[in-house]
Amino acid sequence: MLTGLNIALIGGDARQLEVIRKLVELDAKIFLVGFDQLDHAFTGAKKAKIEELNFSEIDAMILPVSGTSLDGQIETVFSNEKIVLTEEILASTPEYCRIYSGISNQYLDDLVSKTNRTLVQLFERDDVAIYNSIPTVEGTIMMVIQHTDFTIHNSTVAVLGLGRVGMSVARAFHHLGAKVKVGARKTKDIARITEMGLTPFHLQNLEEEVKDLDVCINTIPHPILTAKVISKMPPHTLIVDLASKPGGTDFRYAEKRGIKALLAPGLPGIVAPKTAGQILANVLSQLLLEELAHRKESC
Ligand code: NAP
Repeated sequence: MLTGLNIALIGGDARQLEVIRKLVELDAKIFLVGFDQLDHAFTGAKKAKIEELNFSEIDAMILPVSGTSLDGQIETVFSNEKIVLTEEILASTPEYCRIYSGISNQYLDDLVSKTNRTLVQLFERDDVAIYNSIPTVEGTIMMVIQHTDFTIHNSTVAVLGLGRVGMSVARAFHHLGAKVKVGARKTKDIARITEMGLTPFHLQNLEEEVKDLDVCINTIPHPILTAKVISKMPPHTLIVDLASKPGGTDFRYAEKRGIKALLAPGLPGIVAPKTAGQILANVLSQLLLEELAHRKESC
């Protein structure tokens, strides 16, 4: 149980509701900042404005998946108030206070380093990334169905990258009956793709490999689908770019060539906010329980 733990949950979207639900269930005391328009009331969770919170009593701070913007603003869909995470706020928390977010940026990195606090980026964890690949795959299938006039079954699909998302995407499209080839650069990945019953290719042969594609799904956060590569694709090819912004596609050239290319960020939060929230809630509660146990041991 998280009895006695004070947690500030600042901003976010529907995914955070699952986090609140889970932490309340574990008996933590929650302060909700940026939730004034949320109709639902959680017993054990108290709405507050950021300037009202006594951060010296906060044991852990939970930010949205996006962390902060580059000027420190915290996104929230449940409020119109402007919330900014400042150095002053972080410095006023106890030294052991950990900050949890999905991802980070220069602003947040600088802030935690200046204040000597620990930032935990949940999306860097393999377990979170692998669980998250499940709704990501479902969202990708949805996008391909919405933007093509042919079945996935029997179509030729290339998946670029065999990371945590690429592997799940490749397997799902294979099971839907697509002819899946996967591009990677490591020999161990080429071996794994072969073991999975899929067709491997080395990314250095990408230009040759895209000539017969119906769908190209990119998971590589690097400019991989260049103008030169796109120029070799059949005109009907659909590109779905899952890599984090700005993606790995030359969207300007794709548009010029009349090839439909979609950047599709944040699919878990769009297609399955409840599941995506539960994934975060489960990992967060586990980490907080471990942290509490560790603190009790060292007392
Ligand atoms: P990952 O496990 O790190 O996999 C990344 C893949 O990209 C690996 O196969 C890696 O190969 C390859 N790669 C990276 N840089 C490369 C380069 N310069 N050249 C060739 N290959 C390169 O990451 P992930 O968890 O699968 O996530 C992939 C991307 O999807 C990330 O940008 C992530 O933020 C994003 N994402 C998007 C959604 C969404 O809803 N759209 C959801 C989840 C994740 P090596 O091992 O050889 O480096």
